[in-house]
Amino acid sequence: PPRAPIESSSSKVRVIARIRPFLPIEVEQNQGKPTSCFSISTGNSSDTTLQIKDSASGREGHYKVDSCYFEDDDTREIFSKEVEPLIPALFQGKNATVFAYGATGSGKTYTMQGSDAHPGLMPLAMSRILAIAERANFQVAVAYYEVYLDRCYDLLTSEGAEISVLEGNDGKIQLRGLSQKVLRNLDEFHRIFMNGRLRRQVGQTGLNDTSSRSHGVLMVTVASQSKERIFGKLNLIDLAGNEDNRRTGNEGHRLVESSRINQDLFVLSNVISALSSNEPRVPYRDSKLTRILQDSLGGTSRAIMIVCLNPRSYQEAAHTLIIAARTR
Ligand code: ADP
Ligand code: MG
Repeated sequence: PPRAPIESSSSKVRVIARIRPFLPIEVEQNQGKPTSCFSISTGNSSDTTLQIKDSASGREGHYKVDSCYFEDDDTREIFSKEVEPLIPALFQGKNATVFAYGATGSGKTYTMQGSDAHPGLMPLAMSRILAIAERANFQVAVAYYEVYLDRCYDLLTSEGAEISVLEGNDGKIQLRGLSQKVLRNLDEFHRIFMNGRLRRQVGQTGLNDTSSRSHGVLMVTVASQSKERIFGKLNLIDLAGNEDNRRTGNEGHRLVESSRINQDLFVLSNVISALSSNEPRVPYRDSKLTRILQDSLGGTSRAIMIVCLNPRSYQEAAHTLIIAARTR
């Protein structure tokens, strides 16, 4: 197959915002639809400016994003406009990464995982990848694991084995001990994924719902069956919720967790920012998460960060967007 041209901006991460609708309970509690703190203004450049306004205090903030999706835009639209275009390159041996980033309750899991009625980017991407793979005679495999307090745990085995991260001589990252399941069809994926999701809910610590405090990574690999052995990889990541510790008043173990999460998100934004400004040194080694993504961020890889936002909270949105803005 012909090689895709290498774009000069290939290492730049595309940042898109997704503002979720008000939930029925939020409308009920407010006795009517609350006003969103967001509006959008598109300048004359290719950039979109997201404006947030606090109706109580009158404070305002402006943040540039590459694209923005509002409450009426569904996940399928985000998939076809943003994620689907990355998929053909996997079959030419390229890697890609899609993150959902935002506070707890902002719509990350809805966007990445979704439900039967509203499938998320993970099942939508799987479906597309399997369809292409069948035609092109590629083998598709998945792994699903979580990164919690800077350690990685398999979500596809009941033992929840810890995985170690190694770098091969070729610069490729290897996850030792990680189980990978070869997929023949989408039904198989749904079965595997459902079990993995249940494991993520319980978490390695036995604590309830660690899902919001760990990064969930679905890694999809495609491998050609031909002699040339083309190998591509897509990481779909439901990041841990970022929290503003000054506001949440976290203590004890919660504070340890959220400090680690904030550290991870800070390193991730440093890595993305170093890539977008073509800095010679990219601090991949500063966290386990970025170490894992070393061969899937930058270089010829493509990446998208979906910044998920809750329309209710100005402060939370400002906190989220300030960190996201560091990546540009
Ligand atoms: P997070 O994973 O960021 O903590 P969730 O994905 O669990 O947040 O979303 C919080 C709540 O909002 C859930 O009840 C979810 O179903 C709902 N929700 C999120 N995004 C949307 C959306 N775009 N449309 C409808 N409901 C949404
Ligand atoms: Mg979640």
